[in-house]
Amino acid sequence: MEEEMRAGLRGEGGKIEMIVSYVDDLPNGHCATPAAKLDGVAAATEEMKAGLQEEGGSKIKMIVSYIDNLPNGSEEGLFYALDLGGTNFRVLRVQLAGKDKRVANLESREVSIPPHLITGSSADLFGFIASALANFVADEGPQNKVVLGGKQRELGFTFSFPVRQTSVASGTLIKWTKEFAVDDAVGEDVVAELKTAMEKQGLDMRVSALINDTVGTLAAGSYNDEDIVIGVILGTGSNAAYVEKANAIPKLNGELPESGNMVINTEWGNFNSPCLPITEYDQALDDESVNPRGQIFEKLISGLYLGDIVRRVLLKIAMQCSIFGDVDSTKLRSHFVLRTPDVSAMHHDETPDLTIVAEKLAANLKIADTSFETRKMVVEICDIVTTRSARLAAAGIVGIMRKIGRGTPGDKRKTGIAIDGGLFEHYGKFRQCLESTLVELLGEEASKSVSVNLTKDGSGLGAALIAAAHSQYAN
Ligand code: BGC
Ligand code: MG
Repeated sequence: MEEEMRAGLRGEGGKIEMIVSYVDDLPNGHCATPAAKLDGVAAATEEMKAGLQEEGGSKIKMIVSYIDNLPNGSEEGLFYALDLGGTNFRVLRVQLAGKDKRVANLESREVSIPPHLITGSSADLFGFIASALANFVADEGPQNKVVLGGKQRELGFTFSFPVRQTSVASGTLIKWTKEFAVDDAVGEDVVAELKTAMEKQGLDMRVSALINDTVGTLAAGSYNDEDIVIGVILGTGSNAAYVEKANAIPKLNGELPESGNMVINTEWGNFNSPCLPITEYDQALDDESVNPRGQIFEKLISGLYLGDIVRRVLLKIAMQCSIFGDVDSTKLRSHFVLRTPDVSAMHHDETPDLTIVAEKLAANLKIADTSFETRKMVVEICDIVTTRSARLAAAGIVGIMRKIGRGTPGDKRKTGIAIDGGLFEHYGKFRQCLESTLVELLGEEASKSVSVNLTKDGSGLGAALIAAAHSQYAN
C-alpha cells in the first residue's frame, strides 16, 4: 500500500490517486491552547481585581449583585420566577417548605420568544414576557394548590445580560449580548420595564430580586451543597459568578455587608486579551456580529457561536478546494445554519462510516458528497473548536479559583462549582475536556478537593430562593 501511495504522490497514476486538497492550514495551530496560554487566561485574576476596584476598571465588569448571603435552606413560602436569557424563557412557581422539606413543589412553563421581539422594542419584549406571566398565573386552578393567604405574589427575575445592579431588586441594562438588540432598553431599569408591563396586564406582583443566571445557578447549587462557591453558565452564552470577600471589593466604598461576603457576577464573557487564541474565523464572526469587539471570550466559548465557527472553517475549505464536491455555497455562507448541537452530533458520531456527519453536512450545509477522509476531517475540526472552548472555560474557572485562593495544594476546603447550560449538559466531549483541563491546570492533588456539579435549571430556582430571602414578608 505504501508504495502505491508514494506512486500516487509522484503523480505516476497508481491505483491510489492521492489527491492534493490544497488545504494547507487546518486551523489547529491557531486554536491551540497549550498550558502556558491557559495560564495567561487564568491570570485574568488581575483584570478581576481591577474590575472590583472601580466601575469600569476592567473589561471584566465584576458586577456587585447585592446578594450577600446565599440560601441556607430555611426559605419558606410560594414564589415565582421569570428566567430570561436566551430564545426561550421560563416562568416558574416554587413552593419552598424550609429546612427539611425544601422544594415541596416546582412547576414551570417554557415559552419561546418570537424572533422579531429579540430585536424589537423594549415595550414589546417586556409586554410579551408579562403576558406569559399573566397567563401562567391565570391558569392557576384549585389543582395547583396555590395558597397566597392574603399575601401579594412575589417574583425573582433572572435576567441574563450585563446589568448594573442598583439594589437587590433593580438594575440598568448595560448592553445586550447573545444576538439580542432591543436598543431602547439599554440604560433602562429592567425591573421598572417589567413592572410597567405587568401593570398593563393587571398583574399585581412584587419583584423581590433581580439576578443574573450565574448568580441563580450559584444560589441553587449552594442550596443543595454548601461547598459550592462558583456558578458558571456554559450555554448559549457564558459567564460566571462567585462568592467574594466584601473587603476585597474596593468599589463597595466601605459599605460592607454583615456577612462579610458578596456575590460577584463577573461577566467574564467580555474578557479579551492578547493571550486568547483568535483566528481569522473568530475575527470574521466578531466583525459580522451584532456586538462587534464585545464579548470576545464568550464568542470563543459559548454554544451560540461554536457551530458558526465550524461553519466558517468549512466555508473556507469549500472555497479553496473541491473536497466537498460541487457545492452550492449559499447555505455554507448563511450565518448560524450549523448549530452547536449539530457540531456535537458530528463530534460524537460513532457510526463506522460517519453517517451522522454526512447527514448533518447534507441537511445543514448542502454538502452532499463527501469521502470518509473528508468526514473525518470535519470531525477533527469540531474537535479543535470545541477543545479550545472547553479549555478556555476551564482556565476561566481556575482564574476565579485563584482569585479566591481555592484549589491550591495546601487548601483543605472543598470547592464546589455549579454549572448549567446546554453546552455543558449535552455535549459530552466538551464536558470531559473541561473536567480534564481543570485537573491539568490545578494538578492531580489539588483537583481532588474540587467538584463540578451540573445544576440543571438552577437559575430559575435560584431566583425563587433569592426572592424568598428578600421577601417583604421575610422576618
Ligand atoms: C451575559 C451574561 C449571562 C451569560 C449566560 C452572557 O451573554 O452577558 O449576563 O450570564 O450570557 O447566560
Ligand atoms: Mg438559561
